[in-house]
Amino acid sequence: MIPVEDAQQIVLAHTLVLPAVRVAFTEALDRVLAQTVYATENIPPFPASAVDGYAVVAADIEAVRWLVGEQMAGYVADFQVRPGTVARITTGAPLPSGADAVVMVEFTEERDGAVTIRRAVKAGDNVRPPGQDIARGEVVLPAGTLLSPAELGLLATVGQTEVQVYPAPRVAVMSTGNELVESGYLPGPGQIRDANRYSLMAAVRQAGALPIDLGIVRDRPGELEAQVRAGLEQADVLLTSGGVSMGELDLVKPLLERLGTVHFGRVNTKPGKPLTFATVGQKLAFALPGFPVSALVTFEIFVRPALLKLQGHTRLMRPVREVVLAHDVRHDPERTEFQRAIVVRQDNDYVASTTGFQGSGRLLSMVGANALLRLPSGQGNFAAGQRVQALIIGEVE
Ligand code: AMP
Ligand code: MG
Repeated sequence: MIPVEDAQQIVLAHTLVLPAVRVAFTEALDRVLAQTVYATENIPPFPASAVDGYAVVAADIEAVRWLVGEQMAGYVADFQVRPGTVARITTGAPLPSGADAVVMVEFTEERDGAVTIRRAVKAGDNVRPPGQDIARGEVVLPAGTLLSPAELGLLATVGQTEVQVYPAPRVAVMSTGNELVESGYLPGPGQIRDANRYSLMAAVRQAGALPIDLGIVRDRPGELEAQVRAGLEQADVLLTSGGVSMGELDLVKPLLERLGTVHFGRVNTKPGKPLTFATVGQKLAFALPGFPVSALVTFEIFVRPALLKLQGHTRLMRPVREVVLAHDVRHDPERTEFQRAIVVRQDNDYVASTTGFQGSGRLLSMVGANALLRLPSGQGNFAAGQRVQALIIGEVE
């Protein structure tokens, strides 16, 4: 049995960033950039008016000036603005030759082609110089950037229509157990509905990866091996749940031992002690415990960081915050425990209440939880008012 931190380190040591792929930038939302993007042009590319108004010569001292033409956005007009003249101009239009400033329409008056300027004007007023937003040669987005809406807009702006990104890992998910039936069925005697495949596939998706549904697999060696092999073939990561306890039909770990290398098979954690981690070539295999809370909590602590690392993320762990316990908390000093809790901000503190009975089968203990209290081994029960570390897994109000 190994400590939680050691298990986390072993997983990450065997997790390599996936090879980058080239994708249309429109498909790159939530991907991590695997290349640096440079600007090959200035933005704006020409001196552009920042307002609607009149293009003028700033040094011009005439009180009334004559309109020589219109410069709208989208083309280049072929007149000159000279002292004694102005041109009507719209936001985003190129500054006509001869002009060096724009006066906002609010500070002007136009009558029969004669324009009065009611403001002092300096050269450059209301003109966005070329390269003001992005200069040619500048790094627009460094490698490692997470692509969000603003980043996609920038890629469009600089004309980078394809980018190198780290792909979403494919994650094959299966549930094991003779007792399991699909959620749409009425369980027969001794049967229960499969919860883990659905919670795990959703967690995979939230971690930015692509779930592949391998269905329910019976506790039969041949069937299990066929599906595990199929999963490892199609996916970068295999997630199974169930079949890793000490029972007779717990077949997953011996199978992984045969197919690849099992790096650990027991972790000193509650919930989730029988978590098993193996590699088969470059592929990762996590055999998660069957109890629904154990499966999701071990996903959170061990699988999610690996999925993030595969995608090129560098911040792999949830934020950790010190919280004050709202009530006494029972804790077994033998193991590191992750209790599901609701953390709220109160004055300058974060106050945590657990979600009630913390049984490994009680998925309701995860509903509404925005934190996992990390209760370290080597220490027994905690009293109300004591401070502990919490992994923040949701929004804190
Ligand atoms: P196991 O590790 O296979 O012995 O499973 C531990 C407990 O979790 C047993 O009570 C199983 O019935 C239950 N369990 C296993 N897999 C699932 C699943 N996919 N959905 C809901 N409960 C499960
Ligand atoms: Mg089982």
